[in-house]
Amino acid sequence: MIIDDQHYDIIIVGTGAGGGTLAQKLAPTGKRILILERGDRMALSEQNRADVDVFKKERYHAPEQWYDQEGEPFSPQTNYAVGGNTKIYSASLMRMRDRDFTAVPHQEGIAPEWPFQYADLEPYYTAAEQLYQVHGSATGDPTEPEHSGEYPFPAIDHEPLMQPIIEGLSHQGLNPAPLPLSLTRQDDDPTGDAEVFGIDLALKHDNVTLKTSAQVVALHTDPSGKAIKGVQAEVGRQTIMFSADIVVLACGAVNSAMLLLDSANDCHPHGLANSSDLVGRHLMKQKLTVIVEKAAGKNSGEFPRTVSVNDFYWGNRDYEYPMGHIENSGGLLRDIVFAESPPLLSVLAQVLPGNRLMGLAVKSIGWWAQTGMLPDPNNRVQRLKGKLRFEFEPNNFEAHDRLVYQWIEVLKKLELTTDTVKSNSIFPRGEAPLSVVGYQLGTCRMGTDPTTSVLDTHCRTHDIDNLYVVDGSFFPSCPAVGPALTIMANALRVGDHLCDRLKG
Ligand SMILES: Cc1cc2nc3c(=O)[nH]c(=O)nc-3n(C[C@H](O)[C@H](O)[C@H](O)COP(=O)(O)OP(=O)(O)OC[C@H]3O[C@@H](n4cnc5c(N)ncnc54)[C@H](O)[C@@H]3O)c2cc1C
Repeated sequence: MIIDDQHYDIIIVGTGAGGGTLAQKLAPTGKRILILERGDRMALSEQNRADVDVFKKERYHAPEQWYDQEGEPFSPQTNYAVGGNTKIYSASLMRMRDRDFTAVPHQEGIAPEWPFQYADLEPYYTAAEQLYQVHGSATGDPTEPEHSGEYPFPAIDHEPLMQPIIEGLSHQGLNPAPLPLSLTRQDDDPTGDAEVFGIDLALKHDNVTLKTSAQVVALHTDPSGKAIKGVQAEVGRQTIMFSADIVVLACGAVNSAMLLLDSANDCHPHGLANSSDLVGRHLMKQKLTVIVEKAAGKNSGEFPRTVSVNDFYWGNRDYEYPMGHIENSGGLLRDIVFAESPPLLSVLAQVLPGNRLMGLAVKSIGWWAQTGMLPDPNNRVQRLKGKLRFEFEPNNFEAHDRLVYQWIEVLKKLELTTDTVKSNSIFPRGEAPLSVVGYQLGTCRMGTDPTTSVLDTHCRTHDIDNLYVVDGSFFPSCPAVGPALTIMANALRVGDHLCDRLKG
């Protein structure tokens, strides 16, 4: 093993929404910062975010296998590259609703309160929206929480195909609003991500070093077990030990938890920072269903998602519990069918020749229905017989089913009021399988009590003073909106704390 003879002030492991954002926040401090990323830079030609590549061809699934609770292998949809999953995300950057931070009753239990509230994160949401050049509008959606600042850019126009649909939705008394999107305004790379707005900005500072193809495989503590003294990484074909005053994990919720568990030692026999036995537990991912309707006109599929509907976020007339969020899909039917999709979608995808779904494919509109789930300590990742194993039983079924059926009712009514969608009354749909893990959250939950949480409110581990986690692991509960903006805002919040600590 090679010992890196430089000592850093801070090491950040991972360059996605959490790590990339934190790196750019800390870079101006002048402190020596080392960023370790297991992937490489993605060539621009590789950065095709069309849903067909992401979902159907499983183009961005990691080159490794994880295992479900029956021991069956699956190929996880997670991207190892500079920018992490933000290199393939849809860049819809929504704020959690203010009530999401409180204890929220669901049919099957209560989603726990966060140790800080919306108002505490609000300035960081505004800063993250500025940093990621979010194009949006805070008006029009009654569930949108208060913003202290405007979005830096106005919302982009809807595709002409969507305009009559939006009018039809409004006609039903719903409140379709523009989906906030991160955009670079550059033609060759329009989507904003954590490489462009995080890592590249950090690297403008001489005190920041990025090592790619550098997979961290273990963390080592000092003999007291109270501080990380070594970060062991496979860099190309070499094993190198790095050291720093502060170590921040941002490997994504699954991989950060696994790194802690895999680094068990005599002081931490069940994994680092795991005195609570909660590392890897409370794994959450949104319930995600794609719903398709027939359109009267052609859908080029080349426009981004732009429509957000939250009228059923907190329930509907018949259901007093949260149901979730709806957004449109820019892509075509064939593009958004999950590879493992159930009957109707799969049949449609298979029977039509040349992977083109003829009439239906070019004349369809897709919608995503997203519902949160409850944290459950039995939903976990761990290593069993050397394999990364998921024990995962989804919950909150009724809320999600109600959202899907409610949306189908809305689409049926649309058929009567707009010529843009065709009368058909069949709405093929498919729910995301286990392998769709892009929205993974919760494996190192944050809280004030070290017996019921892994991280404190600064995302520092309760057990190890110089160890932090800033990816999606920290979420105590799972919102129905995408988590990326909250991960970014939280990284800026933790960044403020680290700036103070580094000054001290
Ligand atoms: C197809 C898709 C679409 C999505 N669309 C949206 C959306 O529109 N809106 C939204 O809010 N969210 C979206 N998401 C989710 C969003 O991308 C994630 O929530 C977010 O990127 C998670 O940030 P993170 O920092 O937790 O982890 P990641 O962004 O996954 O970053 C983790 C990083 O750590 C690196 N890494 C892992 N292990 C190691 C190791 N041992 N050593 C070194 N480096 C390591 C990885 O290579 C990666 O760069 C989407 C996700 C996917 C997959």
